[in-house]
Amino acid sequence: MTGAPPAERWAGGPAAETEPDLDCPTCPRLVAFRRANRQSEPAWHNSPVPTFGDADARLLVVGLAPGLRGANRTGRPFTGDYAGDLLYATLLHFGFAEGTYQASAGDGLRLRDCAISNAVRCVPPQNKPTPQEIAACRRYLEATIARRTSLRAIVALGRVAHDSVVRAAGLKVSAFPFAHGAEHELARDPWPPLRLFDSYHCSRYNTNTGVLTADMFRGVFAAVRRCLPN
Ligand code: SF4
Repeated sequence: MTGAPPAERWAGGPAAETEPDLDCPTCPRLVAFRRANRQSEPAWHNSPVPTFGDADARLLVVGLAPGLRGANRTGRPFTGDYAGDLLYATLLHFGFAEGTYQASAGDGLRLRDCAISNAVRCVPPQNKPTPQEIAACRRYLEATIARRTSLRAIVALGRVAHDSVVRAAGLKVSAFPFAHGAEHELARDPWPPLRLFDSYHCSRYNTNTGVLTADMFRGVFAAVRRCLPN
């Protein structure tokens, strides 16, 4: 597959749209949920949540989907719920963010050499997108990755994000099994190698049940920092 242009390797291609329309109509179940949330919580964002961070970042963090009272409320990925508390504290610790995280999109926090996105841009009921919704929204993830020619590393938070990144690269999921702490080399000649780091999702459920500790999470980002020295 050497020599193939990026647009052929990453189906979204560098010319594709990276951000959906705020009224993206593609997933009927999520559109209905969006409408219901706009009715009940008119002050909330209640739209696809755009990627946050540096356009020239070497690191992209990919989550599952906006949380109902987190990103779907505030309009910034991982902002306003528990998962964001752990993620932003960790990014600040390793120098991938600067400022003070105050759980609101207006807190002035800046990402450094880092961006954050989601495999699915709209909030799903019970935090569970369907396979069809994940596949439909992958075009935006593909385009987000394809446009970021400075990208060298991706952290996938959970299996859904991992699988969607691998599929976005046009690779077989079976050849890149998800495991917390695993690292994978995603070949995308002629571009530079892209390293995929796996982590369990930093959800409250995973931390409350001990599936993921703050130390385990920091360990993943320590490996990323070794890969992307300051
Ligand atoms: S999840 Fe993605 S593809 Fe589906 S409606 Fe939302 S923005 Fe559109």
